[in-house]
Amino acid sequence: RFEYFNNAVDLAKKLMCFYVKEGYRVCDCTVGNGNDTVLLAKLVGESGKVYGFDIQSVALNITREKLYNENLENRVILIEDGHENIDKHVNENINFAIYNLGYLPGGNKKIKTNVNTTLISLEKSLSLLKSNGLLLVTCYTGHEGGIEEKEGVMNFLRSLRQNEYHVIEFNFLNQKNYPPTLYGVEKL
Ligand code: SAM
Repeated sequence: RFEYFNNAVDLAKKLMCFYVKEGYRVCDCTVGNGNDTVLLAKLVGESGKVYGFDIQSVALNITREKLYNENLENRVILIEDGHENIDKHVNENINFAIYNLGYLPGGNKKIKTNVNTTLISLEKSLSLLKSNGLLLVTCYTGHEGGIEEKEGVMNFLRSLRQNEYHVIEFNFLNQKNYPPTLYGVEKL
């Protein structure tokens, strides 16, 4: 059975598969265990490029191994730095960026994204985004700092000019226990 509205992460993945094409320049701003990075590497093909950011070497090592196993490492640049420094590492415009905020699943829950650096990064990513580019952000509220981060993201995205961006919020209305929210931003 095919489900469209399963959860935020799955919906983000579907949108990503629908949008990202061969040759695209894309950023995974929170690499984590590399699930999105690996999928992006497949979607952009040999002629594309994926920039992947994480502040934890453990996350990048797990991801590097997954990429090697699938022979995808040549199209991915893994960067051990905060996504708030995206402009120091990405010197070209991008078609797509994805953020999956919070902490590394199965890792140290104290090491997590935070509202201040997330907002710096989002602003920079949006300026790197090409016109017709897409940016996706999944926000979690079940951990300490999560609500502040989601509200910060929401208020920032709400303030974007309507003649420059389309902004959408996906909420899962009947799910228990702090379902994540997905935001989508399309640059005009
Ligand atoms: N999408 C990932 C996957 O497929 O496994 C999961 C990402 S996980 C929810 C969030 C990741 O963001 C963690 O691995 C964490 O180390 C990373 N992170 C935290 N602060 C960061 C920052 N300032 N810049 C980049 N990554 C950061």
